[in-house]
This record gives sequence, C-alpha cells and structure tokens, in this order.
Amino acid sequence: MQDMKADLVVDSDVAVVGAGPVGLITAILLANRGHRVALVDKWPEPYALPRATGITHEILRCLQVAKVIDDVRPDILFTADGSRRFEMRAGTGEVLTVRVDKPSSASGWPERASFSQPRFERTVNERARAHPNIRMLRGWNVIATSEDGSRAIVDAVASTPGDPGVLQVRARYLVGSDGANSVVRSGELASMEDLGFAHDWLVVDVVLPEDRVVTPHLAQIFGPPRPTTMVSGGPGGRRRWEFMRLEGEPLDELNSAETAWRLLADFDVRPDNAVLERHSVYTFEGRWSTQWRSGRRVLAGDAAHLMPVFLGEGFNSGVRDAAALAWRLDLILRGVAPDTLLDSYVAERLGHVRQVVEQAVAAGEIICVLDAERAAERDERLRARPDGLMPEDKRRDWRLGEGIWRTADPQAGYLAVQGRVAVGGAVGLFDDVVDHHGFVLLGVDNDPDRFLSPAVRTAWERIGGISAHVGRDTSIADVDGTYAAWFAGRGIKVAVFRPDFYVFGTAASMDGTDALVRDLVQRLDVRSPAAAARS
Ligand SMILES: Cc1cc2nc3c(=O)[nH]c(=O)nc-3n(C[C@H](O)[C@H](O)[C@H](O)COP(=O)(O)OP(=O)(O)OC[C@H]3O[C@@H](n4cnc5c(N)ncnc54)[C@H](O)[C@@H]3O)c2cc1C
Repeated sequence: MQDMKADLVVDSDVAVVGAGPVGLITAILLANRGHRVALVDKWPEPYALPRATGITHEILRCLQVAKVIDDVRPDILFTADGSRRFEMRAGTGEVLTVRVDKPSSASGWPERASFSQPRFERTVNERARAHPNIRMLRGWNVIATSEDGSRAIVDAVASTPGDPGVLQVRARYLVGSDGANSVVRSGELASMEDLGFAHDWLVVDVVLPEDRVVTPHLAQIFGPPRPTTMVSGGPGGRRRWEFMRLEGEPLDELNSAETAWRLLADFDVRPDNAVLERHSVYTFEGRWSTQWRSGRRVLAGDAAHLMPVFLGEGFNSGVRDAAALAWRLDLILRGVAPDTLLDSYVAERLGHVRQVVEQAVAAGEIICVLDAERAAERDERLRARPDGLMPEDKRRDWRLGEGIWRTADPQAGYLAVQGRVAVGGAVGLFDDVVDHHGFVLLGVDNDPDRFLSPAVRTAWERIGGISAHVGRDTSIADVDGTYAAWFAGRGIKVAVFRPDFYVFGTAASMDGTDALVRDLVQRLDVRSPAAAARS
C-alpha cells in the first residue's frame, strides 16, 4: 500500500478510523479543543439499525461537555421523574428483585436513560460533519494503518464498487475506533483476552404506537423456559426484546421473522399492532484487547473491548475511552505533556473495562441458565436480595486502573460530582455555567488558588486548569448544596477533578493544595514552553 499512489491525501493532527459513536465523540471532543481531525468510515452514512439502548449519567455529562446534549436530547427517552425500575422476574412472572435507576447521580443527570443509537449517531454525525475542524471522510474502507516515525498513516480504498479511489491520511496520532472487527487492531495490537462466555440471543426491535404502555417497562425474565429481556429502545415507541437461544435450537430457525413474531406474541405484540424494525442473532461475548497502544496508534470502543449486553455498558465504556483519550491527546498535541501519557490511558481504561466486562459476564452467568434446578436455586438467592442482580455497592462503582490519580486516596479514581451552581444571573450545571472542559481545582470553604506556589500555578495554567471556589456565599453559588455535601461527607476541603470527570485526588485541608497539584503536574510530566519547543 505504501507504494500505491493516493488520489486523495489528507494531513491532520489526529486520524480517527471508524465513525461509530466512539469515533464521532472522540473527533468532536478533539475538534472542540482546536485540533484538526480526519474521521474515516467505510459507510457513506451511519449504521441504521438499533444496537445500544441504555445510556448512563457519566456519558450524558460527556455529551453535555461536548456541547451536543441539546441536539441529541430528542433521541433520548428520560422517564417523567428520571427514575427507572428494572424488574428481574422468574419464568413464572414472579418479581424476584428490582434494580432502581435513580433520578439523580454524581454527574448531575439521571442514572440511566433509554436511547435510540441510530438516531443518536445520525444527529452526532451531522454535528461532526458541520464542525470546522473535522474532515469527514465517509465511503473509505481502511485496509491498513502504519507509522513512519513522525506520523501515523491510514490507507483506504473507496467503498463504492467500481470506484478505484485511494485515500491516504497522515496524522500525528491515530485512534482506532473501528468496532468489533477492527482493522487497526492488527500486528502488535492483535492479541485478545477472552473470558470464554458465548451465548446466542435473538435481538428483536419493534416500533409500537407511542401511547402503548408496556408493563413491565424494563425487565429481565429468567428461564426456564427461555431467558428474555425487554427494554425500551428510546423515543418514538421503540422497544427491544432479546430471546436466548435454547439448547439444540437451530440458528436459522431462531433467526427468522416468524420466530420473532411467535415469541413476541406472548407480550401481545403482533403484526397488526407493531412494526418489526429488525431481528438478528448476536453472540454475546466477553473479551478485550491486551494491547491498546502501539506507538502513535491507540484503540478505543468495541475495537478494544466487547461485552455481553446485560449491563448495557458497551457503548458507555467506549465513550469513556473517548473522554479519557481526548484530554490526553490535547495535552500531547499542544506540547504540554509527552506522549508516554498515552500509556496511562491504556492502563486506566483497561483496568476499568476489565471490571465492567467481568461483571457483565457474571450477570450473564446468572441470567443464561436453562437448567430448571439451577434456575430454582438462583431464584431463591435473588428473592433474598432486594436490590437487583448485583448488590448496590458492587454495581457500577468501577475504579480506574492505575494511572493519573492518587491510588492511596479513597476518593481518587472514581467519578467526581457535578451539581447546579449559580454565577451572576446564570443557574445550571457546573460545566455549563462555568463553561470549562479541563482540569478543575475545587474548594468549598476557601479559594484554592491562594494556596498554590508560583511554580505550581504556572504548570497548572499550562495544562489549562482553573480553580473554583463553590459555596453558599461565593461567586459560584452551590445552589443545591451538592458540593458542600460531597466535600463534608468525605472530610475533605479541596479536590482536583480531571477533564473526564474522574477525581485525581483530594486533601483534608487547604494546606494540602499545593502538594496535590504539584503531584498532578509531575505525573503529567508537564513541560515548559521552552522544553516543548526543543522536543
Ligand atoms: C444487540 C446489542 C445491544 C447493545 N446494547 C447496548 C446498551 O444497551 N448499552 C451500551 O452501552 N452498549 C450496548 N451495545 C454495544 C454498543 O452498540 C457498542 O458498544 C457500540 O456501538 C460501539 O461503538 P464503536 O464506535 O466502538 O463501534 P461501532 O459502533 O461498531 O462503530 C465502528 C465504526 O467503524 C467503521 N469501520 C469498521 N471497519 C472499518 C474500516 N475497515 N474502514 C473504515 N471504517 C470502518 C464502521 O463502519 C463503524 O461505523 C449493544 C450492542 C448490541 C449488538
């Protein structure tokens, strides 16, 4: 391919291969920070069929910061009070245990909402297409990626049959967000760890009249006879049913419209009251790539990890990758930090996503039971547990793998808080009102900036950090007391929050502020402008 003459050559700061949700959001986050992004995808339009249906608070905050939340709001279904009840039922219909997604969360958004991935992708795709810093290159099938020392190189051929066009993108860094069958994930990046979980499920998406109330709204119905999941598919009457394949059941018999309608009939969903959007058999698996970085190339999203859908975390984990990558690539491209910073992206995200995949597989082991005796034992265990499949304390409380945060600090490596604040006449969520998407040094009783030494303050400003003082009587008012409660509940006075909303570290007194920020800038290996110019 190196010798093949390209018809189109594009130079950019970052090449993103794959314009699924992860590639689109990575591109927008980088472009918003002023970097030129070439976004390459083999299809002329976004993928049109439903996949993810669950979106979490952390990701809603990410979309808020990416400034696309208002565009995608019509693609997301929030319940009237923001809460959601997810029932786990025995095959008999008995409700065994219930998971409740709360109307509020640390991120300032409902814990979870339903959305339509195709609608979401179309909307975000339009935003990316219109972004002045993004060069959207759809209709190009990437066949190889490589490096020539100072650049990453993407080679692609036109996807249209009969079109002999050849494209080459040259960039300082390359993000491989090209999904489960990633082309970027080859060579050094090829090795995968597989948890050996594999179950086939028929996934059926239907559209019902919008005023039809489906009860229960969200449920996992255990077998026997057949484990079945029923969830909302987002706005517009969209619903999803997932039916597990039974032992010995022929695949082609399961994967048919007739079977889909036959199984849906138990839920009073019939051709005369519903439209079948699609049916497809998926094998739910749990695996991840063991190597996410090779020089200038990094993996993100499904290219790096795959998990069973039972926790609804595949898309959400991919967007976490995008947020974790964007701030790092920004510091590297601006010459503020060396590109060894990408190693901490891998360590943190791999450590995090392993916990998620393992938990999704553990949930799958509970759900995918066909044997009547084992199912009865499982049902008995769940009856004794009122708060869902996973005890509350284990659910979605995943910590980052070791990286740019203080491991000895019990708050660090977990999600930070976002509350409503008032500045002047404006009232809203912190990230909107303060309008900042970088590092934040936050104090509640005192202005933390006053505690920084000049050298540390200079480095802090270099990474684009801001300090803020939130309180009842300060310039940033803590409208609901969210920050006061968060800090007091943890016995801390000051905290550093990262651009991807994770806590870097905290201090119990304002006197710890300088050491806290010094530790951060040292771990980032922040370079002076002169050193950056020399490198
Ligand atoms: C049935 C089902 C239910 C799910 N439910 C949930 C859920 O409730 N919650 C959740 O969080 N996740 C869920 N997921 C997972 C979620 O859909 C994926 O994790 C998510 O789509 C991954 O996004 P991505 O951008 O990494 O990859 P993809 O969405 O797969 O995008 C990859 C992109 O790369 C492009 N591409 C691939 N190869 C090339 C190439 N050679 N050249 C150029 N472009 C290329 C593709 O065209 C595509 O646009 C579900 C998945 C399935 C299948």
